[in-house]
Amino acid sequence: MTFFIDRLEHTYFESFKEQEDSHFSPVMASRLLDPVVVSSNKLLAEELGIDPDNLDSPEMLEVMSGNFMTANIKPIALVYSGHQFGVWAGQLGDGRAMTLGELPVANRGPVANRGPVVDGVTSSRELWDIQLKGAGPTPYSRFADGRAVLRSSIREYLCSEAMHGLGIATTRALSLVDSKTAVYREEVESGATVCRVARSHIRFGSFEHFHYRNQPESVRDLADYVVQRHFPQWVEDQDRYLKLFKNTVFKTAKMIAQWQSVGFNHGVMNTDNMSILGDTLDFGPFGFLDSYDPEFICNHSDTNGRYSFKNQPSVGLWNLNALATSLTSLLSSDELIDVLKQYEPEFLNQFRAIMVSKLGLEKYQAGDELLSNELLDLMQMNNVDYTILFRSLCDFNEANQTVRDQFIDREAFDQWAVKYLARLGQQDLSDADRRDNMRAVNPKYVLRNYMAQAAIEKAQAGDYSEVNLLLKVLQSPCKEHPEAQQYAGLPPDWAAKISVSCSS
Ligand code: AMP
Ligand code: MG
Repeated sequence: MTFFIDRLEHTYFESFKEQEDSHFSPVMASRLLDPVVVSSNKLLAEELGIDPDNLDSPEMLEVMSGNFMTANIKPIALVYSGHQFGVWAGQLGDGRAMTLGELPVANRGPVANRGPVVDGVTSSRELWDIQLKGAGPTPYSRFADGRAVLRSSIREYLCSEAMHGLGIATTRALSLVDSKTAVYREEVESGATVCRVARSHIRFGSFEHFHYRNQPESVRDLADYVVQRHFPQWVEDQDRYLKLFKNTVFKTAKMIAQWQSVGFNHGVMNTDNMSILGDTLDFGPFGFLDSYDPEFICNHSDTNGRYSFKNQPSVGLWNLNALATSLTSLLSSDELIDVLKQYEPEFLNQFRAIMVSKLGLEKYQAGDELLSNELLDLMQMNNVDYTILFRSLCDFNEANQTVRDQFIDREAFDQWAVKYLARLGQQDLSDADRRDNMRAVNPKYVLRNYMAQAAIEKAQAGDYSEVNLLLKVLQSPCKEHPEAQQYAGLPPDWAAKISVSCSS
């Protein structure tokens, strides 16, 4: 058994070692005390070609708790900048994450939002960053401690896998380790690490960093690196930077359309939390909708609601504008604007297609958008649970009252149902087939805050079973999981009191 850490490559380090100070810093981890494995992700290990025995090995626990003495690892922290809540924040960087290296993985084809939007050819292998989050301070920690607490690490670990389970492009999480290291937040909590795995950790803010430092050659070097690593088929193309930007715009549009379709609110859409590949990145105070409320704000520190649920599509465009500004040394304003203009129609197309399939309609037809919007309006007015409604709609027919019973104004629902049934009657599809199609796109389980909270409270008492149960359920959220039936219903009353902020 080769330990997968021994197979890591270091293309980022090799590409920028001459400009080490400006692109990254070599760092050392500081180890956690008495580490224990909370959970390891066998499914991801398999996808990455990692021997599952690696995950349970003593070497793994050593590395994941920040003890690199025997493994010959030279970690680096990357620098980036960014706009936070619409304001230029200057230099940030990996303040509590370090990249251990890049794992070569056989390319398994277009999974989730992967593969380029232009030119379908992809290479036979990909490199995935292996990062350790919470292993101590770096030169970019500013005044913070470089640590992550168990509570926030459980949230990131579960949510990144939940997003993947929902078919949404995202960073992943390979393992979660707890310890006896005391970390000071509002109260003393235990320090933990998450092993984050991502195709890329390069952010919009990575490009902004060099643009605002007036280093156009570094903007170019970074763009070349991204093209070389992720789109080698474009390396010789004159218009490779345009293709790269277009890819980011289209992938971001699709990712946000998917967020909206599952009721996911990211909460901190700063430009340093936006991946250049359009993968969901940085799981902080995120939340999934319970009852359908477009005004929902999951981040309690976001007093003005800049990152509210309904604002996400337009914030996506704002962030892409910020990225475009940082690419002005590579592309003309006309080129950038032309691509930016394609964001909104692409978002609307993607969103419409998903909503139509959530309704069980095989082919979009004029009027379907209205049907879907009318349903959302009714759900908002009647405080109907987003996930439960769509899941129960899979079994909807004239005799079935479960959908109707979720509305206070039943007559209004009945009027909508007449139109919906008429529309369903126009397709040649049995109820059973429609139900199967709909069940594949309307999840039964999403990571509601109270579920994460239940797993956190048990884990803080030393019982990791709920973390592992939720991991299993959320990795296939559209399937039935009788052992987790308690998580398929409405949230309990105490869920309303949970407050999630950036403190992590
Ligand atoms: P976030 O809000 O998680 O996107 O973090 C914004 C910035 O703060 C990033 O540069 C993080 O690396 C940094 N940061 C957040 N928490 C910590 C911490 N506990 N120690 C060091 N840096 C941190
Ligand atoms: Mg961040």
